[in-house]
Amino acid sequence: MSDQPASPDLHAIFGIDGSPAVGDPLITGASELSLEARPESGYETFDSGEGLQVPLEEAPAVEVQVEAPAEEAWDAAEAASEQPAPPSPGNAPEPGWSGITRPSRRGSSPRFLTDVIIAMQLATARQVEDAIETSRTSGQPPERILLDQGAITQDGLARALAERYGLDHLDLGVFQVDMSAANLVSTTIAKRYQAVPVAFADKRTLLVAMADPSNVLAVDDIAIMTGHEVRVAVAPPDDITALISRLDRLEDVVGHTDEQQAEEDDEVVALHESDEDAPVIKLVNQIVAQAVERGASDIHFAPDGSQTRVRFRIDGVLQDITTVPRRMAAGAVSRVKIMAELDIAEKRLPQDGRIGLVVDGRHVDLRVVTLPSVHGEGIVMRVLDKSNVVVDMEKLGMADHERERFESSCKETHGAVLVTGPTGSGKSTTLYAALQMLNTPEKNIITVEDPVEYEMAGLTQVQVSNKTGLTFATGLRAMVRADPDIIMVGEIRDKETAQIAIESALTGHLVLSTLHTNDAPSAITRLIEMGVEPFLVASALECVVAQRLARMLCPSCKRRMIIPKKVLQESGYKAVTELEAYEPVGCRRCGGSGYRGRVGLYEVMKITPEIQTMALERRPAEVMRDLAVSQGMVRLRDDGLNKVRMGRTSMAEIARVIGTN
Ligand SMILES: [Zn+2]
Repeated sequence: MSDQPASPDLHAIFGIDGSPAVGDPLITGASELSLEARPESGYETFDSGEGLQVPLEEAPAVEVQVEAPAEEAWDAAEAASEQPAPPSPGNAPEPGWSGITRPSRRGSSPRFLTDVIIAMQLATARQVEDAIETSRTSGQPPERILLDQGAITQDGLARALAERYGLDHLDLGVFQVDMSAANLVSTTIAKRYQAVPVAFADKRTLLVAMADPSNVLAVDDIAIMTGHEVRVAVAPPDDITALISRLDRLEDVVGHTDEQQAEEDDEVVALHESDEDAPVIKLVNQIVAQAVERGASDIHFAPDGSQTRVRFRIDGVLQDITTVPRRMAAGAVSRVKIMAELDIAEKRLPQDGRIGLVVDGRHVDLRVVTLPSVHGEGIVMRVLDKSNVVVDMEKLGMADHERERFESSCKETHGAVLVTGPTGSGKSTTLYAALQMLNTPEKNIITVEDPVEYEMAGLTQVQVSNKTGLTFATGLRAMVRADPDIIMVGEIRDKETAQIAIESALTGHLVLSTLHTNDAPSAITRLIEMGVEPFLVASALECVVAQRLARMLCPSCKRRMIIPKKVLQESGYKAVTELEAYEPVGCRRCGGSGYRGRVGLYEVMKITPEIQTMALERRPAEVMRDLAVSQGMVRLRDDGLNKVRMGRTSMAEIARVIGTN
């Protein structure tokens, strides 16, 4: 089900759509992975990363054993998502890192740590005095005693240390670790010093998370090893240990893939044999594993001249993850091409391929497309997590009234039901939910998809293939002869497909498909513009659903607030009063973004006789929209506002996914 024209979204891919948030000048270059479900790519496009599945087929599936991650690691990963991410190393200005707390003043102050602990009210003066007294005889520093007694926590101590030495404190559960930085030090060294580089503060300086900032030896060694200056930040030892094991694990996840492919591929062997390339392989493996772990829908490698930006799309939003320096960029791209079994010598033409993985028992398929640009070769990988199950109708998030209208249309014996929206709006999910509801033994259901995202038992699914010339139109024509009751066409994107789909709907078949329009009424005008006769459109169409996906507010941290009447009016709502709703805050569980997961927004238009008449008269979409609203259709934006009132999403999200008019 692709709902996207094959033109790549160059803005998204090459990052010319504005740079990521840049914040406080104190800190720089953090990076993070971001993921999202978006369209862009010239490769087969599918709907958002909502987890529909695709068969592995010829993809080289590789079994990879992954230890179950520590709870914190997942939390961290989860948390990491959705941060606005700064550009990485280089001259990047200091980004808006999250999970970082600055000291009240920079530089070491000649105070005892115990005094700082009292001043920060982490423990009482009495507790501290007792600990100092005990330490005289026990040979342990007082802070250690406080820790052992449970008077202070590891994190409390880390905060006190940061304050004592005038350093930043890092919450590694929230802070987005830059893999390019982390890879500069081996995990052996990281373990020995309880220290991990987590970001580039600037071109020459690494931000290094350390449990013990007074370990001067470690700082010197890391500086020499990496060729960077070191800026120390303090994090609790347990967090650093968890981060190191996560880095180990991320590398392992994809690491096994190399070995298997190496046996079959000389190029890979060559890469392995070169020590110079080892860091590239490690980096690519970690990026891919991190994307999968964080549920990214896409991974972008976007060259921008001097370096390559790595971005993830998570919950529909692109985020900068890291930046690969120029000397490694070409290697990283080649590495991905090898994994996807592409021709690494071909750099001027786009290619597409796939990478099959089993991560932690989950089948994951990466669709890879290469995009030659003036700045070099870029790559976009669409992540399809095949273990995600198809959702039930009830879970789509349609309001009851909307769902009844949609369901009853899908249960007709003939006619066309269309789902519209931009790429990444969840159209496939909606169609699969409908197919699942309709999938009974007495029905012959045939699909033609590009690609088949999810294999459903009992269906005959046909994959569009450019190589063999099997298009939507030819596939559809063949399907009609195979005596189907229900036909699902991944996407109507040309006149021929539209024509056959509409004719099939008029000749005793239920046709389900998607179309690329912003709202439901525009589906009618679009089909007519494509060249289908208005009377055919009017009589064939049963129902049109327009939809979007909005990020859901994080239930752990969302905050009650009042939206002023004026704001509502400015957003295009006829508000007569203010509205009680929720706003995003950000916490550890949502990575500071204030959002977790997504919810669908829907506009369900039944084709009534009055609308049929308007279609015949070729009336504009707005006129049909107004009529549909008078007949009970809830517009997308109004469904959005309802979901704002229910506290499921925010006004800002509605504006982002729908616009304000
Ligand atoms: Zn939260």
